[in-house]
Amino acid sequence: MLTNPISFLERSRFSPESLQNNQKFQLNNGTKVEICCAGIITFEPPFTSAASISAANISAVKTVLLSSGVHGNETAPIEICDKLVEDLLCEKIQSKHRVMFIFGNLPAMNIGERFIQENLNRLFNDSLSTDNQEQLRAQEIKREVKRFFNSDSVTPSSHAVSTRIHYDLHTAIRESKNEKFAVYPYLHGHEYNQQQLRFLSACAVNTILLSQSPTSTFSYYTSLNYFTHGFTVELGKVKPFGENNMQSFTHVIDMLTQLITQQEPVLPVLSECPMHIYDVKQVIDKRSTDFALHFADDLPNFTGFKKGTLLATDGDIEYRTLEDGEAVVFPNSNVALGQRALLTVVPCDL
Ligand SMILES: [Zn+2]
Repeated sequence: MLTNPISFLERSRFSPESLQNNQKFQLNNGTKVEICCAGIITFEPPFTSAASISAANISAVKTVLLSSGVHGNETAPIEICDKLVEDLLCEKIQSKHRVMFIFGNLPAMNIGERFIQENLNRLFNDSLSTDNQEQLRAQEIKREVKRFFNSDSVTPSSHAVSTRIHYDLHTAIRESKNEKFAVYPYLHGHEYNQQQLRFLSACAVNTILLSQSPTSTFSYYTSLNYFTHGFTVELGKVKPFGENNMQSFTHVIDMLTQLITQQEPVLPVLSECPMHIYDVKQVIDKRSTDFALHFADDLPNFTGFKKGTLLATDGDIEYRTLEDGEAVVFPNSNVALGQRALLTVVPCDL
């Protein structure tokens, strides 16, 4: 059993050997808990087995995956999820849905870095590599996620009927003109889910980037393989543990709490959501060590440029904006060769 004051997250970070993999126990309120492994824990309300509830009720039970710390220094989402896990464990709140929490890169958290050897959020693909600790962790996460979704009472056959949700919670390296934003992974032609946009808006996440190609991110991985409504959600700027202004996360904390403790969260109507939607225009990968960005290091995300502006060079290759108002997101010239160094986006309608 887990008891305060040493939280599940603290034990996962500092004494993972004290956790027994696949340890199951039940809380007094009937919630079934499983410690899958260090940093991964699930909660299941009583009466979710097919035998004990009617078909109508089964479909009302959502399967929710909340991941944080896939980048170890992105602390605010880790603190938010840590609090939810502890509130669930001490029965301050009770989940009405199946919920899995994943604290992604535990060793990187302990040294306050994005990763140790490799960006974990580029490892969600079919690769079975286990050459370093991020690759090992990616395999472990993929295994646990598969087990979690495969034990759903209902297996969705498309995004349209899916009751599976995945928010992969991050904070961005740099300032952003639109402080909170979410990346909607490429849906391969499936329809965008309006209820999800309303939920994100209620979280004060009013900027959505529509990805137009497959990637190796965690949210694309669950969206593609398990029909989750999956999103990479950026909640603000990177700060060390304990230095986050939790006031700026009130909405997202409230909505995530509602999401798991209520049958349905209270959502604004779509017409009252001040959404800014962007299409991804260019995905620019770093091809050589000569790669250089041609704007200030502290330029905020979503800064727009005139058509034809030189954004980056990579040896002889020049990358320029293709239209007026094209804006930059996630610029990072320090990525490994072959990885994305910059995205550009343009405003669009849904
Ligand atoms: Zn991140």
